[in-house]
Amino acid sequence: MDLAAAQQVLKTVFGYDEFRPGQKAVIEHVLAGDSSLAIMPTGGGKSLCYQIPAMLFSGITVVVSPLISLMKDQVDALNDSGIPATFINSSVDWPEIQQRLAALHNGDYKLVYIAPERLDSEAFVQALARLPIDLLAVDEAHCISQWGHDFRPSYLTLSHAIEQLPSQPQVLALTATATTQVAHDICQQLWIDPQNEVNTGFARDNLNLTVVKDQDTDRYILDYLQVNQGETGIIYASTRKEVERLTKLLTKQHVTAAAYHAGLSDEQRQQNQEDFLYDRIQVMVATNAFGMGIDKSNVRFVIHAQVPGTLEAYYQEAGRAGRDGLPSEAILVYHAQDLQIQRFFIDQSGMDEEHRQRAYQKLQVMNHYANTEGCLQQFILQYFGEVSPACGRCSNCLDERESQDVTTAAQQVLSCVVRLRSRFGKGVVAQVLTGARNQRIRDNNLTMLPTYGLMANQKQKTVGELIDFLTAAGYLQSVGGQYPTLQVTASGVAVLKGQEQAYRKMAQRVKRLVPEDTALFGKLRDLRRE
Ligand code: ADP
Repeated sequence: MDLAAAQQVLKTVFGYDEFRPGQKAVIEHVLAGDSSLAIMPTGGGKSLCYQIPAMLFSGITVVVSPLISLMKDQVDALNDSGIPATFINSSVDWPEIQQRLAALHNGDYKLVYIAPERLDSEAFVQALARLPIDLLAVDEAHCISQWGHDFRPSYLTLSHAIEQLPSQPQVLALTATATTQVAHDICQQLWIDPQNEVNTGFARDNLNLTVVKDQDTDRYILDYLQVNQGETGIIYASTRKEVERLTKLLTKQHVTAAAYHAGLSDEQRQQNQEDFLYDRIQVMVATNAFGMGIDKSNVRFVIHAQVPGTLEAYYQEAGRAGRDGLPSEAILVYHAQDLQIQRFFIDQSGMDEEHRQRAYQKLQVMNHYANTEGCLQQFILQYFGEVSPACGRCSNCLDERESQDVTTAAQQVLSCVVRLRSRFGKGVVAQVLTGARNQRIRDNNLTMLPTYGLMANQKQKTVGELIDFLTAAGYLQSVGGQYPTLQVTASGVAVLKGQEQAYRKMAQRVKRLVPEDTALFGKLRDLRRE
């Protein structure tokens, strides 16, 4: 089988003239019978990488996908294009499953989507083993890795299931989010030769990244919607309560918005999702329960009203903007206190200690993203193991505030960290510098340190922000999970020795998108008084 046949299916079945970046290379691997891993950004066109080979193979393509709520839509869309496909998940009862399996036996379908939980049943795996399976596509493959941010235990049954399949199909793992470590893990667990990895890179050139700090979240969002009237977008918040509150706020301002979170009934969620997909509402306000696999092309903005728990989750959610390739915005409205909500989630999650500490480390990376003054895209790509130039489009690249020399203040912080022999974290360092007198400070005799009270004229919060900046800028590093301690890095040592200067953008950014005295501001004030 050659690529010309694939090209023809692309044209005649799907109506596209050209492959998107990466698609050709992935399909080549699949047609050659090699198991492979495709890493492509959201909206990059991963589905065609298995749907086209599925049309060319004589047997069946099994697609493992965690997106149960969307399977029916995906299958309907394939059927509409004349591709015989079906799905098997928990919404299908046992007699119907038997019927679909029988139809698969008869060769009635080219593709079958299954939920990973199905593989927990040995009877089901044995039923699969009797089918002529040519290809096993594993969507959202990062779910297999405990290093990933969305680990699903059922994915671990995949390797066992593959072993049971006598037709020895090749595997195609697909994901939009995989650090180097997660990619390695996927390859190892699914027996994929790392040489067969196709990575088109994580950069999304049409996505403008912005971090907004020190601003009133409600006011910022309402301003943003006023400036971008009629644009469609998603606003993410961390808790159901905050989602409900924001939805009310927007609705009162006559923005058509609906909520999406796990506390709503299935029907309500489905209804709201459809209203959003079919443009009956402008804004979806949601927790992270919303979005995986949502194929809505014209989402122009994704605003995170609260900081999420990991950079992977952030980029995946932010990446739901601009799937049509048109310029779009991903905005993080950052308040340091929102990290507390994520810490609460971690503590409540019931993870074992190792995972809990790892989750805390991931939260720190997220915090660094919010506090870096470097290119935001570069920060994200670097996290995923990619080297790239500054994007020139993000809020940091476009930040025209003057940089100020903060070498002296940096040296005070760094020397305090050294004096504390790297045994303490940000809180204690800020307390020592500002001359706090609490029990812990006294118990540890920290009032005796020469750096004690060096910044007594500043608020602890301000010093904390300086520490966050120095950490994000790489002069300090925080080590450990839940209670990280600070250490001075090599470039921090250079600053301490006066060999290197530290610069920081100090002046406040332009604060408002809309001037203070607009009617909207008055309305917001009235709303608050209610
Ligand atoms: P992903 O799963 O990578 O997020 P999808 O497979 O859902 O992305 O594809 C995103 C959109 O791009 C879909 O609407 C799909 O039809 C479209 N698409 C995929 N491949 C091509 C192509 N070669 N040319 C044009 N559009 C494409």
